Amino acid sequence: MKYEPGDSVGIFAVNPESLVEQILQKTGFDPEYVVTLENGEMTIRDAFSHHLEITVLTFDTIKKYYEKTKLPELGKLINDDKKLDEYLYGHDLLDILEDYPFDWNPNKLIEVLRQLPPRLYSISSSQDMVGDEVHATVSVVRYERKSRLRNGACSSHLADNIETDDQVPVYIEKNPSFKLPANGAKIIMVGAGTGIAPYRAFLQQREADNNTGNTWLFFGDRHFQSDFLYQVEWQKWLKSNHLQKMDVAFSRDQEEKIYVQHKLQQNQQEILKWLEEGAHFYLCGDMKKMAKDVNKTLLEIIKNQGGITTEKAEEYVKKLKREKRFQQDVY
Ligand SMILES: Cc1cc2nc3c(=O)[nH]c(=O)nc-3n(C[C@H](O)[C@H](O)[C@H](O)COP(=O)(O)OP(=O)(O)OC[C@H]3O[C@@H](n4cnc5c(N)ncnc54)[C@H](O)[C@@H]3O)c2cc1C
Repeated sequence: MKYEPGDSVGIFAVNPESLVEQILQKTGFDPEYVVTLENGEMTIRDAFSHHLEITVLTFDTIKKYYEKTKLPELGKLINDDKKLDEYLYGHDLLDILEDYPFDWNPNKLIEVLRQLPPRLYSISSSQDMVGDEVHATVSVVRYERKSRLRNGACSSHLADNIETDDQVPVYIEKNPSFKLPANGAKIIMVGAGTGIAPYRAFLQQREADNNTGNTWLFFGDRHFQSDFLYQVEWQKWLKSNHLQKMDVAFSRDQEEKIYVQHKLQQNQQEILKWLEEGAHFYLCGDMKKMAKDVNKTLLEIIKNQGGITTEKAEEYVKKLKREKRFQQDVY
């Protein structure tokens, strides 16, 4: 298996056993009932465990559920964008079966559900340092709602069921749009939470290439004590100068929230200087909040420090993107 820093690993998930059992109980299906999916015949229990998405609801799933049931209350939900968005986040198949009861049979219900897709994880290692290994940095999805503990299909499977030397089906997802500069140019890396993962691969690569200096990491998470991922490794790379600069933001360690974009703001002048010297700018992590804030902050830095208009600053960012000097991997 060959990969490069910036690529992701796709991991095939297995749904939480307790959720599968609760769905079987709720529907009253015989667990041994045989159904046919794209990948052949199997029991409905096997289908729920390995082949169908049950921890996540998509718009398409809810639409199909409505088409089969014609339940008026569900029709109302589908026509209310805000409520539908709220429902989609943090609800699973068991929720919709409970909230919108219907007399299902296995063959009808499987037509509503999508195939269980593999989950992607940014690779946090360089093959030049770890050989045949693939490292991933996984945040385990666990949350409680309606007095029921919920577990993410893939992350909790990895955390709860996989032991050393167990086998897990994986594949490499190439990402040509998130790559280290071929010429060893300066890099500014911005990431929050598990968004730090590909930068560990970048630094391992720079170490393997014996390329010192020219690297600047901005990392943000909640707490210094519990969330400073790979702290010792960054410190080692700072010492060896493979990592030239590092700025960290722990949002919950003080009264007012401090995020990576605040650290960028504090370093405005130096950031524009690096960009002018040909630095590549990378952004990885949470799409909803952090990516938007960092994009906005970068634009402000270019505008304020460059003494140019918003339009010119936007052109500057577009040019960075065209030249592949601004790369994002957000999810
Ligand atoms: C290119 C790419 C790279 C990625 N890299 C990484 C990485 O390096 N590390 C990493 O950890 N992840 C990464 N992800 C995310 C990863 O692919 C999975 O989406 C993530 O691990 C969740 O998958 P899961 O199967 O565990 O959870 P799922 O079974 O998919 O459950 C997720 C669902 O749970 C619900 N949910 C989650 N948290 C809450 C909450 N607090 N409150 C209410 N509802 C909630 C939401 O409905 C959410 O859609 C990446 C994604 C992409 C696309």
